[in-house]
Amino acid sequence: MKKIIALLLVAVLAASSALVLASCGGNSDTGSGDTKTELHMATNAFFEPYEYYEGKKVVGIDAEIADAICKKLGCKLVIDDMEFDSIITAVSSGKADFGMAGMTVTDERKKAVDFTDSYTTATQVIIVPEEGNKVNNGDDLAKASVGVQLGTTGDIYVSDIKGASVERFSKGADAVLALTKGKVDAVVIDNEPAKAFVEQNDGIKILDEPFEKEDYAICLKKGSDLTAKINKALKELKEDGTIKKIVDKYIGD
Ligand code: GLN
Repeated sequence: MKKIIALLLVAVLAASSALVLASCGGNSDTGSGDTKTELHMATNAFFEPYEYYEGKKVVGIDAEIADAICKKLGCKLVIDDMEFDSIITAVSSGKADFGMAGMTVTDERKKAVDFTDSYTTATQVIIVPEEGNKVNNGDDLAKASVGVQLGTTGDIYVSDIKGASVERFSKGADAVLALTKGKVDAVVIDNEPAKAFVEQNDGIKILDEPFEKEDYAICLKKGSDLTAKINKALKELKEDGTIKKIVDKYIGD
C-alpha cells in the first residue's frame, strides 16, 4: 500500500511539474507542441545598472525584473548577450523570446516589434569632459563630434542634429572611452548608465540638461501571446512593490 501511495505521489508530482513547464509561455512558433521551459531574453549586457556582468553572471534591473517575470510564468530565464543593434532582429525572427535592454519604446521600433507596458522611465543626457568642455548644452552638440551607441535613441537623437558629427560605437563604454581620450567632444546616452560611467571614469561629468522622458519596455515578436502574459506579470510585480524594490536596489532614492 505504501509503495502504491509513493508511486502515486511521484506520478502526481511529475504531472504537476509538467504542467508548470507547459505553462511556460515561450513563443508558439517552435511548433509541434513541444513545451518550452526556457525563455530567452536578448540584451546587451554592458548597460549598468540595467544589465551588466558581475563575474560571469548578468545582473541588473532588467535581469532581475525578467527573472521575476519568468518565475511567475513558470519558466527558466536564459540571457542572450548581443549587440544592442541586434536585439530587435533576434526578437522579430523568434531567435529570442523577448528583448529587454533599457530599451526605449519608439514608433519606429513598434513597426518591427510589440512592446509591453513600460516598467520604468529614463532620459538621454550629455556627458562631457570635466574641464575644457566644448559642449555646454544641447545646442552646442550642433558643432561637436558626439559619441553614441549604435542604434540607440541617443544615436537617433544626435543623428537628427544638423551639424553634429556622430561617432557610433557598439558599446556605450567605447563611446565614453573615446571621450576620455579626447576623440569626441561629448557622449549622449541614457541617464543611469551615464552616472555609472561618470563614477567609473575620472575627468568626465554629466551636463544638467536632460532630454525628453523615455519609456523603457520589453519588446516581443509582433503578435506574440507572451506580451499579454508578461503584461499581467508586470502589473502584479508593480502592484506588489517588486519592481520598485528592484529599481531602488540598483538606483537608490
Ligand atoms: N534607451 C536607449 C534605446 O533604447 C539605449 C538602450 C541601450 O543602449 N541598451 O535606444
